[in-house]
Amino acid sequence: MKRKRRRLALSEPVEGASGKTGSWRTYQPLVNRELCNQCGLCVLYCPEAAISEEQEMDLRFCKGCGICANECPKKAIRMIREER
Ligand code: SF4
Ligand code: SF4
Repeated sequence: MKRKRRRLALSEPVEGASGKTGSWRTYQPLVNRELCNQCGLCVLYCPEAAISEEQEMDLRFCKGCGICANECPKKAIRMIREER
């Protein structure tokens, strides 16, 4: 099977000493696909490596810090409060 070629050298999210960081979250990021220009900055800035090249957030590891939303030059990411 042919492996998908990656554009970016990315880390993979892993479980740390305090477990999966997704349990810390109060807000979660939501990407507006119409505004996103696929620049990849959110992927590079995410401290948990929780964003894929396709801007899919891995909610097992996204801790809701909002760095991706803050760094997005197109303001394409909105942080929305989670109901649990
Ligand atoms: S930083 Fe913003 S514009 Fe760039 S890929 Fe991420 S969501 Fe899209
Ligand atoms: S809010 Fe954004 S930058 Fe922070 S952990 Fe989640 S996906 Fe990564």
